[in-house]
Amino acid sequence: MGESKTKQLKREGIDKFHTPEMIDYMFNSAELVPPYARGLLSNSLVLLPEEIIDFIVENYVFISRDEEECGSQWTFNSVHFKDKKGFILLATKIWKKKSIEIAFIIAHEVAHAFKKHKTGVIALKQGTKQEKEANRLAVKWLSKHYKKKSLMKLCKPVNKILKRAE
Ligand SMILES: [Zn+2]
Repeated sequence: MGESKTKQLKREGIDKFHTPEMIDYMFNSAELVPPYARGLLSNSLVLLPEEIIDFIVENYVFISRDEEECGSQWTFNSVHFKDKKGFILLATKIWKKKSIEIAFIIAHEVAHAFKKHKTGVIALKQGTKQEKEANRLAVKWLSKHYKKKSLMKLCKPVNKILKRAE
C-alpha cells in the first residue's frame, strides 16, 4: 500500500490539512456533491477530531445528488472511488437544515463508517445498538463546537430530523 494522501501532503509541507478548503480539495467531489453543498460538507467535516477527518478522507467519498439527476453512474475505478472503502449517501434535503443538524447527521454517518457498522441502505432502524453508538460518537465529536444539550436533542433517527418543520 502506498503512502496515505494525508501523509503525502504533510511530507510536502502542507500541514494545515484540517481546514474546510483542504478537505474540499481532497474529496475532489464536484461530480458527487452539488456545488452549493460542498462548503456545507467540508465545514461540517472540519468540526470532527483530526484522526476522524483523516480516516474519512482516506477511505470514503460522499455522494449527495438531487433526485432529478439520479441517472448518473460511476465505476469503482473512477477517480472518486479508487482505493476507497465505501461511500456515504446524504439526501440533498439535509443541506437545507440548520448547521448543527447538518453537522450531526454527517458525524453520525461518519461514526457508522468509522466503527465499521453493518450497512445496507442508510435506512435507520430505531433503537439498535449501532444507532446508539453512532449518536454517542457524534455527540462526543461535536461537543467541542456545540452545546451537549442541543446535540442530545438530535439523537433520534435521521429521518425524524429531516421531517421536522423548517
Ligand atoms: Zn445511523
